[in-house]
Amino acid sequence: MKKLVCAGEILVEIMAERIGQSFRAPGPLVGPFPSGAPAIFIDQAARLGQPAGLIAAVGDDDFGHLNIERLRADGADISAITVHQGAATGTAFVTYESDGSRHFVYNIKQSAAGLIEMGAEARVLLAGADHFHVMGTSLFSPEVIEIARNGIEAVKTRGGTVSFDPNIRKEMLDLPGMRDALHFVLSKTDVFLPSGAELFTFADATDEESAVREMLDRGISTIVVKKGAQGAVHYDQSGRTALPGFVVEEIDPTGAGDCFAAAFVSFWLRGEAPEKALRIANGCGALAVTKKGPMEGIASLVTVEAFIETARTGALV
Ligand code: ATP
Ligand code: MG
Repeated sequence: MKKLVCAGEILVEIMAERIGQSFRAPGPLVGPFPSGAPAIFIDQAARLGQPAGLIAAVGDDDFGHLNIERLRADGADISAITVHQGAATGTAFVTYESDGSRHFVYNIKQSAAGLIEMGAEARVLLAGADHFHVMGTSLFSPEVIEIARNGIEAVKTRGGTVSFDPNIRKEMLDLPGMRDALHFVLSKTDVFLPSGAELFTFADATDEESAVREMLDRGISTIVVKKGAQGAVHYDQSGRTALPGFVVEEIDPTGAGDCFAAAFVSFWLRGEAPEKALRIANGCGALAVTKKGPMEGIASLVTVEAFIETARTGALV
């Protein structure tokens, strides 16, 4: 089976217990939960039985070991996660507003996550990789952008493929080197996985079909637009395939996009038809939102298939 690799931040997430709670006053918190978009992605892929490894850095502390142990238990290759003495693992503290929006207090760049590097273990991991996944959230400094470039080049040289989840806020576009980096990543992308308005960050068109056409004309072979509870739409040169989402009670939306992407890319790498890859990905995304904590809803293939058998789907988009 093809091996996929991702590089980027490992974090713990600690969340406010009550909706509407503010961090400008003391209050009850829950966590730590293992987190970080690249870690969520790799953990979900591994749970589906895909060989998957992560290039990352944590501190030699409980938060770091919590993440490493979860990834190890779920079958991920953790050989390229370095443990730094004297640096603390990255954190994200989250509050939820009553309108569903989230506010984050991050410590990523200044944490062990900022010490990620292309060490000997990372090179060995990439030498055995068939696919590299780029997370927009991980392109937060020139050093990590360089790691993404290395990863892309390593798999492309070996005839491998690249996927890209932009997961990017418009304000991030003005960070030093970001526009060049995104241009480079897009020029190498085979599978593009934007959600909502992210598609239009990269295209001139203002409607979905035209924006997708622009991206396909740039040489991206597969585009999957994630639509939250409404499911997802797949586009390639042979057309459009839309699949509705599964009906679940949303407890915590964080991580759904990463679980969805991991499942879609894993089944795309297995050569499955778009319908099948989308169905499994919608199943993983739906299960992800049913639990508090970004990795707590990650399920094995057997569990996802059983869920899909009995779950109800919403309206088609
Ligand atoms: P993230 O917040 O992780 O960045 P995203 O914006 O990248 O998420 P979404 O479109 O929110 O991605 O979710 C990805 C997929 O997860 C959806 O396409 C869908 O399959 C599933 N999903 C998300 N939210 C729900 C929900 N409330 N009910 C059912 N399925 C959902
Ligand atoms: Mg996203």
